[in-house]
Amino acid sequence: MSGLLSVSEAQQKLLAAFSPLKVENVDLTQAGGRVLAQPVTSELDLPPFDNSSMDGFAVRAADVSAATTGEGVRLSVIADIPAGKVVDITVSTGEAARIMTGAPLPAGADAVAPVEITDFQARQPGTPAPRYVHVNQPVSSGENIRPKGQDVRKGDHVLAAGIRLRPQDIGFRAMLGVTRVPVHHVPRVAVFSTGDELVPIGEPLSPGKIHDANTYALVALIKQYGSEPISLGIIPDELAAVQACLDQAVALQVDLILSSAGVSVGAFDFVRHVVEQRGKLEFWRVNMRPGKPLTFGHYQGIPYVGLPGNPVSAFIGFEVFVRLALHKLSGVSSRIRPTQKVILLEAIESDGRESFLRAIVNFNGEEWQARLTGHQGSGNLHSLVQANALLLLPSGVKSLPIGAEVHAWLFDNE
Ligand code: AMP
Ligand code: MG
Repeated sequence: MSGLLSVSEAQQKLLAAFSPLKVENVDLTQAGGRVLAQPVTSELDLPPFDNSSMDGFAVRAADVSAATTGEGVRLSVIADIPAGKVVDITVSTGEAARIMTGAPLPAGADAVAPVEITDFQARQPGTPAPRYVHVNQPVSSGENIRPKGQDVRKGDHVLAAGIRLRPQDIGFRAMLGVTRVPVHHVPRVAVFSTGDELVPIGEPLSPGKIHDANTYALVALIKQYGSEPISLGIIPDELAAVQACLDQAVALQVDLILSSAGVSVGAFDFVRHVVEQRGKLEFWRVNMRPGKPLTFGHYQGIPYVGLPGNPVSAFIGFEVFVRLALHKLSGVSSRIRPTQKVILLEAIESDGRESFLRAIVNFNGEEWQARLTGHQGSGNLHSLVQANALLLLPSGVKSLPIGAEVHAWLFDNE
């Protein structure tokens, strides 16, 4: 239990302790950002009927094959078809029907001549259809027509379970006429910080004190990953207070308890001790930099992650471990984070632990290049703020020269 685990060993152990939360049906209007719990098979063809992709005239392509500018083909306009209306006509040789974008194609027609290639240039809303129209250019059969089922066919597998529903997915579900969507419950995460030196924001700092950064950053991270944070605030370095806080989290029936600090080997690091005494400690050291004293266990049966206190370590511990746990609880199926190969603009050193180094990464038109954001001390939060990526150094690598290639996680840019 006291052995030093590799990052991937620790990730596997952690993931094994979580399963996806239960499923509930929510209104589509509430489903954005939630994780789809069942795959979707289309019950419709999309589009549901052949329709025009342009405002123009539904024609028979053969009728206008001889059309050239100046000497158009004259057709008689037998109907006016707005979007949303089925007009029961058949376009015969020498005929056309005015048609709007999205309107059903009438029988007989096999193409749409856009208004731009006709002599009917009236653009004002409300202008009635002309009696005749000249089409000045040929259109081929099928041109400017969106055939039924072009996008999706009834029975197609259109969405996989385990995706976080994005705005485009919501629009698509609406297009299929769905009102309720099965999604996983949102994980509820209790979060607290420990340390006698910590002062909440809004209160002045007396000598020896610092503002609590981790509670706020962790709450924001939990939200970013679609989960619900429940902040229990700052807990002093006292055994009874730590225990009471953990008990409070248990009473709240959260899905995960997350704390920062107090899990190292300091004389006042009680959190790991309490988890060990009243729960089960799975591991408490990971061969990574920063963030080695990362702790995982169960407290009264509830999964517990103890992040290191240094703010950069806490952030990286979250991104490397807690993110996985939240994804699994949420039902997210893909946990792979995309990486980018980058070329080092400066030599870098580490100590052989798997390392996550703060960097600025840029594409110069030819290649992605990376430079560190200054001192990599794990308390230096501003160097994380300046970074737009983390460079990933495998374990065993102690130095890399200028020009070496490494993988990087790019932080999301909106
Ligand atoms: P610890 O893990 O308790 O030994 O804390 C390691 C370092 O992180 C110490 O310098 C703490 O002051 C700092 N630290 C712990 N918790 C926080 C926090 N919530 N916000 C900012 N810094 C913290
Ligand atoms: Mg401490």
